[in-house]
Amino acid sequence: VKQAKASGKPEVYAPSEAREARRRFSIETELRRAIDNEELELAYQPLVDLRSGAVTGFEALARWTHEDRGRIGPTEFIPVAEESGLILDLGRWALDRAIATIAAWDRQNEGGLPFYVAVNLSAIQIARDDVVTCVGETLRHHGVSGDRLTLELTESAIVQDPGRAMRVFEGLKGLGASLSMDDFGTGYSSLAYLQKLPIDVLKIDKSFVRQMLDDSDSVSIVRAILSLAEALGMATTAEGIEGAPLATTLAALGCRTGQGYHFARPLAPDDALQFFREANPTITKN
Ligand code: C2E
Ligand code: MG
Ligand code: MG
Ligand code: MG
Repeated sequence: VKQAKASGKPEVYAPSEAREARRRFSIETELRRAIDNEELELAYQPLVDLRSGAVTGFEALARWTHEDRGRIGPTEFIPVAEESGLILDLGRWALDRAIATIAAWDRQNEGGLPFYVAVNLSAIQIARDDVVTCVGETLRHHGVSGDRLTLELTESAIVQDPGRAMRVFEGLKGLGASLSMDDFGTGYSSLAYLQKLPIDVLKIDKSFVRQMLDDSDSVSIVRAILSLAEALGMATTAEGIEGAPLATTLAALGCRTGQGYHFARPLAPDDALQFFREANPTITKN
């Protein structure tokens, strides 16, 4: 979590930094408007069982199409949202949208569909919002059961205040939701916390996955994460799978779930539902 405002550094910028600062400022102003005016959307990227090819879930990813600037990616606007505090509103919006979409998909399929939706939670939400109450109320509001929801957290959510993280994680588990540790391997959490916290899934960061084909160290790291997860009784998801060879290698190493352009890009809700139906023909009636 960057804390530029609190760092006390003198605000002297080189010209390119000044331009960067202006862009951040206008993104902040416009993001505030975008949240209020529903200019944001969620795209849903399939999570695929690497052995059977079945879709078991979707990750909800925020998308912003700015009327003049075009698409602005979350790697740009999420950090701005975190530094400005807008992430609290954006985070509540994302939870509401994702859970409303589960309800809408279920209405189109008698008896509901057997997949979960994963929503990203920022460390700032864990630290400053009452996410347990918010998630509980949103589930109730849309009539969705908690076991349809996974929350993706990063190691930074733990490091700052492990006691609070523990209470929040337990509260979310109490609602029936699953917890996934996102970008695993890139953060600073200790293995002691990992063992104590009620985490269901380790999500292997795409930086390791991507390098597996030409770097044996990355293969070793992925192997180590997979055996750590097994020892701790956690499932594993690999992100950033861009081709069939990686999918095959990861399945052979024992990774259960995969996500990446090889399977599908993040999709609009209708396309995601269609993708689910095609990948799981025995589960849904078309
Ligand atoms: P993340 O949670 O680790 O999400 C996975 C990212 O990997 C997504 O990037 C996804 O589009 C991308 N990805 C998936 N498969 C592949 C692949 O095969 N190759 C490559 N190169 N990339 C792949 P995206 O959508 O740009 O999101 C970036 C990050 O922004 C997310 O990383 C997450 O940290 C954050 N983010 C997105 N939406 C939200 C949100 O609603 N709330 C919060 N707090 N953060 C969000
Ligand atoms: Mg994620
Ligand atoms: Mg990730
Ligand atoms: Mg990532």
